[in-house]
Amino acid sequence: MKLRFDEGTEAFRAEFLQWLELNRPSVEEMADDPARSSGHSPGWTRAWTRRMFDSGWLVPGWPPHLGGRNAGPLETLVYLEELNRAEVPRTTNPQGLGIVAPSLVDYGTEEQVEQYAMGLLRGELTACLGMSEPDAGSDLASLKTRAVIDGDRFVINGQKVWTSGAGYADFCFLFCRTDPDAPKHRGISIVLLPLNTEGVTVRPLREIIHPDYPDLSEVFLDDVVVPVSNLVGELNDGWKMAGGSLAHERSMVWLMSVMGVESAMAELLETAPGMMASLSPREQVIAADDIVGFYVETQCARALGYRGFARFVKGGNAPEQALMKMYASELRRELGRVTAQWHGGGALAVSEGRRSSLGLIEDYFATFGSTISAGSSEIQRNIIAERILNLPRG
Ligand SMILES: Cc1cc2nc3c(=O)[nH]c(=O)nc-3n(C[C@H](O)[C@H](O)[C@H](O)COP(=O)(O)OP(=O)(O)OC[C@H]3O[C@@H](n4cnc5c(N)ncnc54)[C@H](O)[C@@H]3O)c2cc1C
Repeated sequence: MKLRFDEGTEAFRAEFLQWLELNRPSVEEMADDPARSSGHSPGWTRAWTRRMFDSGWLVPGWPPHLGGRNAGPLETLVYLEELNRAEVPRTTNPQGLGIVAPSLVDYGTEEQVEQYAMGLLRGELTACLGMSEPDAGSDLASLKTRAVIDGDRFVINGQKVWTSGAGYADFCFLFCRTDPDAPKHRGISIVLLPLNTEGVTVRPLREIIHPDYPDLSEVFLDDVVVPVSNLVGELNDGWKMAGGSLAHERSMVWLMSVMGVESAMAELLETAPGMMASLSPREQVIAADDIVGFYVETQCARALGYRGFARFVKGGNAPEQALMKMYASELRRELGRVTAQWHGGGALAVSEGRRSSLGLIEDYFATFGSTISAGSSEIQRNIIAERILNLPRG
């Protein structure tokens, strides 16, 4: 069976490919940023974001006044697939582009859209997402960071953790408790916090993947003052927006994770002959069996992805996304493990010419993150059990 898109979608693909060919960042440009796959440093990527925005290719599904071209869902899908195939990052600030900007467009004031959302789209700003806390991860609604209104300002105290990109972001999309007496899902608000505000301390967390340029940080907030005009949406209504933000994140994570598996599979196929040459005949048979198994599973992930995507386009089906998120991120982790294992000691070296700037072993470690972030595999299993299989709550 060969899946094909309609003529209009193919014409859209051709137009994008033509633009990409002429405008894509050069390999030298991308090599300037040693952390291009971790999303650590904005570097040249701000200019690339701007170039895409100016040509209507950064957010093609958005209306023209926000820099898009009203692309339909299928067009957006082929656009993302082509970027992935070309190995060009769409952004190194996925939280900013995928969650903060769309949430501001949905709920922000005109000023917030102009200053913060458009700043992100023009590549002038980067954002981080301050949700998780030491005692509030999967159970985000128990977050404790407190914002107290004092005249026309908020005074904020508390701590965030696992904040991706906080070390270089300009501002944080900060979830805080504004009514401690309300039930825990109420009384949460979102505040835009410029990270250079007095009382903000960003402390990088040392990571095994790339200890020299950590991406995750703790953020400490000590009597931090921001104007009340930095409130996003209604006071105490942040949980509703959290649903919106996470929906943006889940649909993005879900598509990206299938593409991530496909890229890893493509790389495995490219490197397999060289790798297998160093194995004994018996090991070669086992390795070939593993590779075929992964190939089949990758095709399953793609087929499931298309099916889920079709349902999502017709009316947004959240449980389908839980299935995809869990399956693709775990498959990617398994692929990383087996690939590293077959390379033996060679997996410890950063190999030249890899698609990623990470070595194989770091690449494998990095795959654990996506089974945890944006809702862990266990949480996805709960969703699948309760909402797809209609099993009783545990
Ligand atoms: C790479 C990466 C990037 C991240 N980026 C950000 C970011 O930018 N901003 C941000 O705010 N956060 C970020 N996070 C944090 C992430 O959202 C949390 O790690 C995640 O929600 C899990 O929360 P936790 O770490 O507190 O674990 P916990 O919620 O404490 O869970 C611990 C363990 O218990 C399991 N568990 C918890 N509840 C249940 C349950 N009800 N049923 C079954 N099992 C359960 C979990 O699956 C996990 O295995 C990031 C995390 C990672 C790994």
